[in-house]
Amino acid sequence: MENPKFKYQPRVLASSDVDIRYKGTSGGVISQIIKYLFEYNKINSALSMKYSGIKLFDPILIYTYEDYENTGSVYHEINIYKYLKENIENIKSPILITCLPCQVLPIRRLLDKNNIDSTIISLFCSNQLEKEATYYFLKKNNIDIDEVIDFRYRGNGWPSGMQIKTIKNQYFFNNNTSKWADVFHSQIFTLNRCFSCKDTFGINADLSVGDPWLYRYTKYDNIGSSIVITHNDRGENLIKNMYANGTLLLIENLASNDVLLSQKKTLIKKHIFRKYRKTLSFLRKIINSRYYKKYFFYFCKVHNYMLLIFIRILKKIEGIK
Ligand SMILES: Cc1cc2nc3c(=O)[nH]c(=O)nc-3n(C[C@H](O)[C@H](O)[C@H](O)COP(=O)(O)OP(=O)(O)OC[C@H]3O[C@@H](n4cnc5c(N)ncnc54)[C@H](O)[C@@H]3O)c2cc1C
Ligand code: SF4
Repeated sequence: MENPKFKYQPRVLASSDVDIRYKGTSGGVISQIIKYLFEYNKINSALSMKYSGIKLFDPILIYTYEDYENTGSVYHEINIYKYLKENIENIKSPILITCLPCQVLPIRRLLDKNNIDSTIISLFCSNQLEKEATYYFLKKNNIDIDEVIDFRYRGNGWPSGMQIKTIKNQYFFNNNTSKWADVFHSQIFTLNRCFSCKDTFGINADLSVGDPWLYRYTKYDNIGSSIVITHNDRGENLIKNMYANGTLLLIENLASNDVLLSQKKTLIKKHIFRKYRKTLSFLRKIINSRYYKKYFFYFCKVHNYMLLIFIRILKKIEGIK
C-alpha cells in the first residue's frame, strides 16, 4: 500500500479570507495561493477553470487574480497537458498550475522544456470521472444541461456538494450522502488509468492539497480546511511566507499517520484495484455494458454495497485492517 515519507511537516491550513475559505472546496488554500502569488508579482499567469455549459469545465489561462474563478474541484477529466501544449505561446512565466497527481510529471517536463518557471500544486486524488458521469446524473434527474446557468461540484461550505442553478430551479446533491455520491463512488464512470494508480498525494508536485477526512473535521468543521503537504523548498517557503504574512491560517500540524488516515479508504481501494486488476477488468466489462448503465441509477445503492463487500473480502484475504 502507498506509504510516502513526507519530507516536511504536513499541516492543516485555511485561507484567512472568510469568503475564499467558504467558497473553496475545502479550506480555499489553493485560491488563496493564486491570489497571493499574483498580488506579490510572483507569477505572471495561472491555470483556472471555467464552466462552459455542455462542455462542463474548460481550463483557461489567466493573467490576474481578477480573472480567477473559484470553481472548486472539478470532477471530470480535463486534459491539462494538451491545453498547455496548445497554448504554450500564451503562458507568461512564472506560472501556477493545479492538476492531479498523474498529471504532474508530464506537465513539469513540458514547462521545463519550454523554459517556463512553474509552481505545481497537486490535488490529492481518489479517482477522476469521465464527463459521462455528470451527463448521466443530470439526465437521470431530468435536468436539461442547456438550462443550467450555474454549476459546481464542491465549495460553499464543507464538505458541501454538487450545486446546480437552472433557469427555473436550484438543486443540491451532498458530496458524501446523495445519489451523486453513489454515482461518484460506483467506479462505473472512473477513468481506466485510475485502476492502476499508485499516487494519491502528488508527491512530484511542489505541494499537494486535500480534504481533511478525519473525524475531528467531518464532525465539527462545516466551513472548510485543507491538508497541505510540501515536497520541496519551493513549496515549503511559499506556505511559510503565507502564514507568516497572515494570508493562510495554521489550524494544526498533522502527524504523517493522520495524513494517511485521512485517505485510508482510497489507499486501500487503490491497493486492491492494483492487485486484483485482472478480476476487476472482467467485472468492469459487465458493468460497463449499456444495459447495466441504463438501470444502474435505480439500484446504485445495491451496486455500491456489493462493491463494498467485494473490497471487504479482498481486504480480509490481504490481511488489511
Ligand atoms: C478528481 C479529484 C479527486 C479528488 N480526490 C480527493 C481525495 O480523494 N481526497 C482528498 O482529500 N482530496 C481530493 N481532492 C482534492 C479536494 O477536492 C480539493 O480540491 C482540495 O482539498 C483543495 O481544496 P482547496 O479548498 O484548498 O482549493 P480551492 O481553493 O477550492 O481551489 C481548487 C483549485 O483546483 C483547481 N482544480 C479543480 N479541479 C481541478 C482538476 N480536475 N484539475 C486541475 N485543477 C483543478 C481549481 O481551478 C482551483 O484553482 C480531489 C480533487 C479532484 C479534482
Ligand atoms: S486516481 Fe490516479 S490516475 Fe486517476 S486521476 Fe487520480 S491521480 Fe490520476
